[in-house]
Amino acid sequence: MIYQGQCHCGAVRFEVQAPEHLEVEDCNCSICRMTGFVHLIVPRAHFRLLQGEDAITTYRFNTGVAQHKFCKICGIKAYYVPRSNPDGIDVNVRCLSTQPKSIEVVPFDGQNWEAHAHTLAHKSRLADSEETTQGKQKR
Ligand SMILES: [Zn+2]
Repeated sequence: MIYQGQCHCGAVRFEVQAPEHLEVEDCNCSICRMTGFVHLIVPRAHFRLLQGEDAITTYRFNTGVAQHKFCKICGIKAYYVPRSNPDGIDVNVRCLSTQPKSIEVVPFDGQNWEAHAHTLAHKSRLADSEETTQGKQKR
């Protein structure tokens, strides 16, 4: 299904395609602990920024791989490019205006990121069926 989402002021708006029953991560790393970000990681093709590209600014730290994107007007981080899935998008479930049928929150030990990141790697991959479909559309 398609979920709508936005930052607090509404400058940044997006939609994301995800299952109606969501499995999301609650991470305890240095930045997620402060922001309260709840992670819905999707393939990049399942995310569409509708507006607000010019309102977004990017913060990087440590390895610099993750692109922590936040609205420079209201300060809310509605989505970003995560270090665990640099080919995907990580949406903040707290910024969705569409409600899922159910939501399961799984703790993620981001304080020991290197030991656990591989458990998230599959989340940004398209399903085989989708790759086939997209391939057909291109031809
Ligand atoms: Zn905003």
